Amino acid sequence: MASTQYVYTMHKLGKAWPGGKEVLKDISLSFLPGAKIGVLGLNGAGKSTLLKIMAGIETEFSGEAWPADGINIGYLAQEPELDETMDVAGNVLSGMGQAKELVDRFNEVSARFAEEMSDEEMNATIAEQAELQDQIDAIDGWDLERKAEIPIEYHPDIRSAEACYLSSSKAIALAKETGARLHVFHLSTARETALFQNDVPLAEKQITSEVCIHHLWFSDEDYTKKGTHIKWNPAVKSAVDRAGLWEALNDDRIDIIATDHAPHTLEEKNQVYTKAPSGGPMVQHALAVMLECVNQGKISLEKVVEKMCHNPAILFSIKERGYIRAGYYADLVLVDANQAHTITRDSLLYKCGWSPLEGTTLRGAVTHTFLNGALMYENGNIKEAHHAKPLSFTR
Ligand SMILES: [Zn+2]
Repeated sequence: MASTQYVYTMHKLGKAWPGGKEVLKDISLSFLPGAKIGVLGLNGAGKSTLLKIMAGIETEFSGEAWPADGINIGYLAQEPELDETMDVAGNVLSGMGQAKELVDRFNEVSARFAEEMSDEEMNATIAEQAELQDQIDAIDGWDLERKAEIPIEYHPDIRSAEACYLSSSKAIALAKETGARLHVFHLSTARETALFQNDVPLAEKQITSEVCIHHLWFSDEDYTKKGTHIKWNPAVKSAVDRAGLWEALNDDRIDIIATDHAPHTLEEKNQVYTKAPSGGPMVQHALAVMLECVNQGKISLEKVVEKMCHNPAILFSIKERGYIRAGYYADLVLVDANQAHTITRDSLLYKCGWSPLEGTTLRGAVTHTFLNGALMYENGNIKEAHHAKPLSFTR
């Protein structure tokens, strides 16, 4: 029986071509009004057959499929037809026809220089190569792969705010239903912050949250200049989202600040959008960025200490750390809260050798770092000493 709340219903829908090849089998689906529906699948998986059945164009099938009364369904055929022997990138490149032919020919001609040639052949080859180069220059046809790529500016639309909200709210609903302890990290949107509370102390919260330095610092306005160097998952979103994160951090709906330090190599990060990995090195400047934000009036120094020292110790029940207290391990930094410094590649202590913050001037620098009471870092120099100890926990 059709339930009237659905705009379209399928029940045990199947479709076989003459000869018996089954393209669709046993599909039962119901669509609510207002739903956006995507059908994904490989070439030949039966996507357009399914859509044609829904639109009433394909009438031979088994099982049942019906729209609610008063619903009309249209079908727009794909245009142009794609070449099934190629993947999507291949189809896009072939659509760049003339430029691709010229570049392919240029590469063929260039490859000839590896072979033995007479002077006459050599001159003809050089002439043809020069001619092709002029033609490609004239239509700006170089670097087709990069041009056929998705621009990085679309990253926050692909890894969307909507997806963030759906995944965070689903996890929270499940935690509430089951009573599970849940920590949601890498909040990146203003909307998600409404899912968290600030009316109980951190130690009593069942659901806690974290924000990363990069989501507090960058916005989608930075993609044009920084490119894939600021590609993270979740994506850096809008300035409005960033403002919402600051508000939630300051009113304690967000409990801790993290770095999500991920030192991918420059070579990896300089690839095109779909190939560049997400993530970047942030640990060296995490505190310096927050000190700059203190200087900008976005947060108090006390709040920075709470979110980066006290709260991680409370949240993860870390024993004898996170506070300056008698009997506690002395994990300390000395900072010059106003010292302006510009981040340059040669000032980096990362093995990966780059930072998304290169060229940025920050007011506030770490001058000394103590680990378990031992001086490990002083004004740019790391000490060759080993004082690391495993953390212990009180849970
Ligand atoms: Zn992460």
